[in-house]
Amino acid sequence: MSTTDKYSIITTTPAETEQVAYEFAHNLKNGDFVAMYGDLGAGKTAFVRGMASYLCPCDHVSSPTYTIVNEYNGDKVRLCHFDMYRITDDDDLYSIGFYDYEDCVIVCEWSENIEFALPESYYRVCVSKLDEDRRQITIEEIK
Ligand code: ADP
Ligand code: MG
Repeated sequence: MSTTDKYSIITTTPAETEQVAYEFAHNLKNGDFVAMYGDLGAGKTAFVRGMASYLCPCDHVSSPTYTIVNEYNGDKVRLCHFDMYRITDDDDLYSIGFYDYEDCVIVCEWSENIEFALPESYYRVCVSKLDEDRRQITIEEIK
């Protein structure tokens, strides 16, 4: 595994985090995988909301904490938004049909829980809370 292209940015409002994600989403096509990391309240869902504002602007993004996965349809891509908070092993992933999701952009909150299932290439996005409103967002392309 080698890594290329890593950048980091600090945001001070949820709207700025969404804007960073909106710009990032320009790179994405069906088949891409975005693994998100960060604590509760860091801003992962805010980041996905920004991605969706570019990829499928008609859809409302909410946290799939209880549904596990939400799907949004855009003109160019289908965005499948997972929350892996309750996932502990591969059996869980099979039972939610995770491996049947193809031809879409997959974005997973709580990728800490599914390290064993990450594809060979993906984008790694870490959101960390620096203080009440400041977030550090690091985006890295893993190849
Ligand atoms: P997560 O999905 O990581 O649990 P959410 O995106 O649901 O987090 O929530 C992030 C919370 O942090 C929201 O209440 C949001 O208003 C707040 N917040 C404050 N500053 C920021 C920022 N710079 N970027 C993103 N969210 C922020
Ligand atoms: Mg969330």
